[in-house]
Amino acid sequence: MSHVSCLRDARRIVVKVGSALVTNEGRGLDPDAIALWGGQIGRLRALGKEVVMVSSGAIAEGIKRLGWPRRPREIHELQAAAAVGQMGLAQVYESCFRAHGLQTAQVLLTHEDLADRRRYLNARSTLLTLLRLGVVPIINENDTVVTDEIKVGDNDTLGALVTNLIDADALVILTDQSGLYTADPRHDPAAVLLPRVVAGDPVLEGMAGGAGSSIGRGGMITKVLAARRAAHGGASTVVCSGREPDVLVRLAGGESVGTEFVAQTPRLAARKQWLADHLQLRGALRVDAGAGRALREDGKSLLPIGVVEVVGEFERGEVVAILDAEGRELARGLVNYSASDARRIARRPSTEIESLLGFVEEPELIHRDNLVLR
Ligand code: GLU
Repeated sequence: MSHVSCLRDARRIVVKVGSALVTNEGRGLDPDAIALWGGQIGRLRALGKEVVMVSSGAIAEGIKRLGWPRRPREIHELQAAAAVGQMGLAQVYESCFRAHGLQTAQVLLTHEDLADRRRYLNARSTLLTLLRLGVVPIINENDTVVTDEIKVGDNDTLGALVTNLIDADALVILTDQSGLYTADPRHDPAAVLLPRVVAGDPVLEGMAGGAGSSIGRGGMITKVLAARRAAHGGASTVVCSGREPDVLVRLAGGESVGTEFVAQTPRLAARKQWLADHLQLRGALRVDAGAGRALREDGKSLLPIGVVEVVGEFERGEVVAILDAEGRELARGLVNYSASDARRIARRPSTEIESLLGFVEEPELIHRDNLVLR
C-alpha cells in the first residue's frame, strides 16, 4: 500500500541535488534540468512551503571548464576546480530560477560554520532571513577553503546538517537512482525498491552498499546515513530520482515517490531533547514575573526587557538557564548575546539594542525556537 509523502505537510524543505544530475553526468551544467527544478520550487513556494537547495556540481563543472580529462587526486586541483565550477553553478541557478520569478542567494558553508555554536547561530539566522525575504538559498560546501580533515565531504551529509540547522521538516535527496533497493539493482535483478523505511535502521546500511558514480562524492550509503542524521533532528528524508517529471510537486501533493526514510521522533521533541540533554549550561538569565508568564503561558521568546539579572560568563550561541525570581529553572535555550552584551541590554526594550550595543543580532535574547521549558 502506498503512503502519503512527508512532503505534503512539510513547511520547510531542503532539496539536495547531486553532481551527476546538475552536470548531466559530468558533461556540463544542465540548465534545462535546473530550470525544471526551479519551476517546481516556484510551485512549492506557492503552496506556502519554504525551500532551501543544496547543490553539488562545482568540482564536476570546474573539471569540465578546465578541460581536464579526469577528476584529479591532488586536493589543490580539486579546490581550484571547485572555485571555477562554482561560478557557473551560481550563474545557472540565478538565471534559471529567475525565469520562474525566484530570487536566489549563494551560500557557501564550511564544517566549522555548522560545528561552532556562534557561527551556527549566524548561519542559521542568515538562512532564516533569506527565507523570510522569499529568497531561495543555494548552498554548497566552500570546497575551495576547506582541508581534508575539516570538510563535510559530501553534500548528502551537508544536506542533513542544513536540515537540522534550519529545523526543516523534510530533506529531499534528488539523485540519478530511483531510491533505495533491497540490493544493488545494477548487479542484482531480484532487487526491489523500498518505498518506506525507518530512518536509522542499521539494516539499510547493508543494502546501500558502497559509493556510487565517479562524478559526485556520495553513493547510496551517504544518503542512508544522511537520512539517519536528519532523523535525529526529527526530519524525514525522501531519496528519489531527480529526473522523474514534476517529482517535487508530486511529493508535495502527497504522492509516494522513491524511498521515504521516516523519522520516528517528531521534530520539536528531537530539538528539545537535544537542548535538554546535550549542552552544558554556561550561565543564567533571571527574569521578572511578566517574562516568566510570557514564556510559560504564551509561548513567547525571551526579550531583554524581561531580564533582571545576568549570571555568569557566556558567549553568543551558548546554552543558558532562564530562572524565575526564586531561582527555579523555567527554561533553557541558546542565547543570542554574550553575557556582557546581555548585561547592557537587560531591562531595556529591544528597540534600544542598536543604540546600546552599536549593532543588533536579534530582537530576542533567546528565540522561542531555541528554547525549551523545563
Ligand atoms: N561540494 C562538491 C561539489 O560541488 C560536491 C560534493 C558531493 O558530490 O557530494 O562539487
